Amino acid sequence: MSAVAGPAWLVGARSALLGSNTNTASAIAGDGLPTDSRARRYVLRDHAGSLLVDHRVARCGWDATDPSGVAVTRKGERLGVSGVAVCGSVWACPVCAAKIAAARAVELEHMIDVWRAQGGDVWLLTLTVRHGREDGLMANLDALTVCMRRLWSGRWGQAFRRRHGIVGLVRNLETTWGAENGWHPHSHVLLFTDPDAAYVIAPDVARDELSVRWMALTADVGLGADDEHGVHIEAQPLAMDASGLGEGQHSAWLARYAVKMASAQSDKAWGAAQELTWSHIKRARGERFTPWSLLASSVKVHDGDEHGAAFLFMEFVEAFHRRKQLVGLAALRRLLHLGDVVEDDALAEAGDEGAVEIARIPVPAWRWLRVHGLVPAMLAYGEAGGDECLAQFLLSAQASAAARSGPSAWMLGREAVVS
Ligand SMILES: [Zn+2]
Repeated sequence: MSAVAGPAWLVGARSALLGSNTNTASAIAGDGLPTDSRARRYVLRDHAGSLLVDHRVARCGWDATDPSGVAVTRKGERLGVSGVAVCGSVWACPVCAAKIAAARAVELEHMIDVWRAQGGDVWLLTLTVRHGREDGLMANLDALTVCMRRLWSGRWGQAFRRRHGIVGLVRNLETTWGAENGWHPHSHVLLFTDPDAAYVIAPDVARDELSVRWMALTADVGLGADDEHGVHIEAQPLAMDASGLGEGQHSAWLARYAVKMASAQSDKAWGAAQELTWSHIKRARGERFTPWSLLASSVKVHDGDEHGAAFLFMEFVEAFHRRKQLVGLAALRRLLHLGDVVEDDALAEAGDEGAVEIARIPVPAWRWLRVHGLVPAMLAYGEAGGDECLAQFLLSAQASAAARSGPSAWMLGREAVVS
């Protein structure tokens, strides 16, 4: 991928300055994409933009919001950029989605902690529907959404919540795709329960009740769910130190999350909170593809697009892009006295708190770096080698740009300033 590895001069300069071991931004994985997760997301964002030319992801990370240029910031060892318009799409943009998901995961974890500190419990519920190879995603998603709304509202839903001490819930929406059975839209729900409520019954009783109700609801909209796979409910142990729990029960819980952690490219412990927001960022397991893995496999056009992955990704965005990833956050935050929800756009735009500006890149230079796919390399360079290396990188890029397309590429008389 020359777009990521950079032109030949850069590869030479990089190894001379940094040595080969720090050259992480240009290492290529088996799927032809960078192994470095940031570089990977940049490549995938550009690819998504090329597939979805009318979608805001196509502009994400291009336009400077400040005419004086784009800032490179440092917080500890980590570099970032600020002063660039971003799209804030959790469905179409791998860069914004990762940033928003990271923030949501922290938020949900905090909510769970707050609730558990008050003696509350949290259950993880998964709702799925039966689906077939030829089912359209949009229609199935509409039907699933209707079923979920009917499940929680209305007399049955109210009574169920009372019966099981469910004081609040937050639910997500996600899908995978498999060659055998097509789209598999489903929802994970975090149920915040009050174990001291008058008539609390065990989670497996709740599951059985939900199962019967879910089958009826899905049958109503012509979808169908079977008892075995339609509803899955998991009670999160109140105390993770296993005290008071059967050994097997606790191990099974941890094991389930250990599997998720291994596939999530995350060094954080995997918990119920991450399940809700990181799910479509996880790599596909087995025969199932997540939307991001569909997007990734559609990059390698020279190998043939076996499943029509590009088209499937576009179908996914079309079906999801007006929907909320998480429903119920605001009410739950009110319940826990945590203030208002920060919207996705604001999370995507938020700068790194405490980060300081170390360089300012003129707008034309920024565009040149973006066109050549060099932003992740620039950041990795500055992270591995410090501010001096960042300056070297920008000077080299400037020389190369001038040699290739004339000095106008970097805007005459204005140079990248490294302070
Ligand atoms: Zn974006």
